[in-house]
Amino acid sequence: MKKNRRGFLKSAGWMGLGASSLSYLQGCNPERKEEVKAPISKEWTSDPEWLKVRYGAWSGPGVPLGPGPMDDVLLKDYAPRSSLVTEETYIPKAKLPVIDVHLHHYPARIQGKRPRKALEEWLKTMDEVGIEKSIILTVATGSLFDTMVDFYLNSYPDRFQLFCGIEKSDIDKPEYPEKAVKELQRCFEMGARGVGEVTDKGYGITGDPRLSPDERLHIDDARIDPFWRKCAELKIPVNLHLADHPSSWQPPDVFQERTPIFQQFNQYGNDGLGYDELLAFLPRLLSKHPNTTFIACHLANLGNDLGRLGQTLENHPNLYLDISARDYEIGRQPRAAARFLSQYSDRVLFGTDMGMDKGMYQGWWRLLESADEHMPGRSWWKYYGLELPDSVLEKLYRNNALEILNWT
Ligand SMILES: [Zn+2]
Repeated sequence: MKKNRRGFLKSAGWMGLGASSLSYLQGCNPERKEEVKAPISKEWTSDPEWLKVRYGAWSGPGVPLGPGPMDDVLLKDYAPRSSLVTEETYIPKAKLPVIDVHLHHYPARIQGKRPRKALEEWLKTMDEVGIEKSIILTVATGSLFDTMVDFYLNSYPDRFQLFCGIEKSDIDKPEYPEKAVKELQRCFEMGARGVGEVTDKGYGITGDPRLSPDERLHIDDARIDPFWRKCAELKIPVNLHLADHPSSWQPPDVFQERTPIFQQFNQYGNDGLGYDELLAFLPRLLSKHPNTTFIACHLANLGNDLGRLGQTLENHPNLYLDISARDYEIGRQPRAAARFLSQYSDRVLFGTDMGMDKGMYQGWWRLLESADEHMPGRSWWKYYGLELPDSVLEKLYRNNALEILNWT
């Protein structure tokens, strides 16, 4: 299993993996505690729990079941062609200018293309789809960060802003806290205007599964307190990736919520912290550092529970969110999501985290701006348009970013 997993990662390529997968490859590569066993073949159709999960109140398929040619269709290949005749709105360009707050160093990841050329093509796409500025979460410090300053800021200072990473070496040394602060100051002077993304999927911010639980550096650790305070002093926000989608900690079996394209993120059986343990860090961190602005990306991985997410926003005025890579949370609950984005319109920022493809951006515009129904998306369920009013869109797309990012 382990071998297969690595083989998959090797062949998948940067772009095919999408966003959060990048941070996965950058270090969050937990080993499984136990091999995940192949699901036992079972007659699920007579299992009461399976029937309840599968059919809800309908309690069954309502038609006679029998064997047939579809029995050989694999879940990972299933792509039903819809016969629904309905509105399909093509939105080539966002209605209002957009600042995308969640991107990575994609131009360097296109195989067979010079990064500079990829960057120029990206700029052309940004113009076409209506992206005014892109915020690159470099996750980098030291000379790697400096090369990105040269690549983006020296050429296109008006189109890009850079976030630097947090120092991850020598976390066990007494001088670490001071070293991390010093490097932050240096990156700020080089041009960094934020930190991110800082990721903890269970093994601390280094993502190193070899560390024992007491060696791991989690976000509320006293060793990083001076760093968070320095962020407040420099007035730079922190993009924080805490936990992951809750389904990542559920078994990869018949009840797994997300489709196999997400199985690379599955953490079931690992010995890192679990979903709830990780999310428990968030209120503690926000209370401990009320002057530091945190942007919890991917709707804080709470997009499946907008009530709890709203409560967290209410309790912590220094918390903001980005919607990157959570198209499938928004798209499956369009009414609740539209209400949430209106109610907390001052607290949510637009981000993509999914590469540089024109169609991807246009997918977002259709999701947020149109009232289209039953749209294809990235998970097994369909998306429904939110039809957000301009008053919400202008904050989500741009004004909140202008407000909380450091533009000096
Ligand atoms: Zn990201």
